[in-house]
Amino acid sequence: MKAVVVGAGIAGLVAARQLGLAGWDVEVLEKSFRPRPDGYMMDFFGPGVEASERIGLYPRLAAVAYHVEAAEYVDLQGHPVASLDYDRFARLAGGNVLSLLRPDMERVALAALGDVPSGRVRVNYGSPVSRVWEDNDGGVRVAVAGSPDRTFAADVLIGADGIHSQVRAQVFGGEEEFLRPLGMRAAAFIVTDPELNDRFRDRFVLTDSLGRTAGLYSLRSDQVAAFMVYREASSPAAPLPSGSPRERLRREFTGLGHSVDRLLELCPEHPYDDVVAQILMPGWRKGRTVLVGDACGAVSLLAGQGGSLAIAGSALLGDSLGPVASPEDIGPALARFEQRWKPTVEEAQAAGRRAARSFLPANRTQRLLRRWIIRATHIPGIDRIVARRIVGRIAK
Ligand SMILES: Cc1cc2nc3c(=O)[nH]c(=O)nc-3n(C[C@H](O)[C@H](O)[C@H](O)COP(=O)(O)OP(=O)(O)OC[C@H]3O[C@@H](n4cnc5c(N)ncnc54)[C@H](O)[C@@H]3O)c2cc1C
Repeated sequence: MKAVVVGAGIAGLVAARQLGLAGWDVEVLEKSFRPRPDGYMMDFFGPGVEASERIGLYPRLAAVAYHVEAAEYVDLQGHPVASLDYDRFARLAGGNVLSLLRPDMERVALAALGDVPSGRVRVNYGSPVSRVWEDNDGGVRVAVAGSPDRTFAADVLIGADGIHSQVRAQVFGGEEEFLRPLGMRAAAFIVTDPELNDRFRDRFVLTDSLGRTAGLYSLRSDQVAAFMVYREASSPAAPLPSGSPRERLRREFTGLGHSVDRLLELCPEHPYDDVVAQILMPGWRKGRTVLVGDACGAVSLLAGQGGSLAIAGSALLGDSLGPVASPEDIGPALARFEQRWKPTVEEAQAAGRRAARSFLPANRTQRLLRRWIIRATHIPGIDRIVARRIVGRIAK
């Protein structure tokens, strides 16, 4: 059996590996020319933990995880005003919480393709898919933009091409039908600065600011990962704020303290910068095409679990499709996948929407309330309520 996977992010790579291990022939098409280095730290807990243990990825993820002692809100001078004990949060989220840099997770998923017998999974970087159609024999075919002769045929097409999925647009409908913006944009980039790196070890540092939040975390080898979230009009039709992403970030974040100013100085001109949004769809499959990961169920960056859900969803897709040996069995296999996985994603999305509502306080009262809630996590009982609000029932 043959599959084409569009997108070599975490979801696409894990789906490709699982199908390759089950004996499928897989072509992965990725628009960027190499694995993308951008992204911030992601919490890894819930279904991704169990799934990655089952498919043998957990030890490899744990080997690249970072240790986080606390998430700390700081004032303009860098002094803590409220602090969340991370070990405690991890225990309440069911133990086993890893903090992983997005590009590290993607690197682990890419390296894990080495488990598949050689030649069965091919990853084609620099291959943006622009068109999808049904073949005469009922299979699917995709074309790569700018290369009319480069088409790929398959029994199944897996759209793992993220929140702005082209496969979704071609097969299910335009982005405006499914994308639900949460009123913010988020940027993430990595800079090298030994002094900043030294100052903020082992903790997430977040500015205690109104209407915008900058975060940073010290990586290995003198680097610092930066994360910036700011408000944006909720309508997808609204024009983008003007200027390059770096100009926008400088406009929004200058003056939030010395560390943030230093991050802005070192910020690349085009960091990852995207709308904070969810993808809500009534169905994830049509004929022989199925969506997985952010393409059909983005929970938003603020839920922090996109990587965990991508691994768990793709592992489950592999379980459902892997044993299929004839095209007639594809439809029922995709239906089983959707039926088993969609409720979990929807629950995580509800938790993501709750997290988004309080992430950027609009006024001093809301900010005080956030400080109070974080301080209250030190009180047994209340800590459990807060953890449930943050991670949803998924933590169980
Ligand atoms: C650069 C980047 C930075 C991110 N940073 C964070 C972060 O800091 N925190 C967080 O929680 N989440 C972040 N995310 C989202 C997070 O990666 C996802 O929620 C999660 O990993 C699920 O991934 P996915 O594989 O479904 O989608 P994605 O990670 O978005 O991967 C989709 C892949 O498809 C490729 N693609 C898109 N269109 C096409 C096309 N037409 N043809 C071929 N390939 C295509 C993209 O280049 C990308 O590699 C980031 C995503 C990206 C792409």
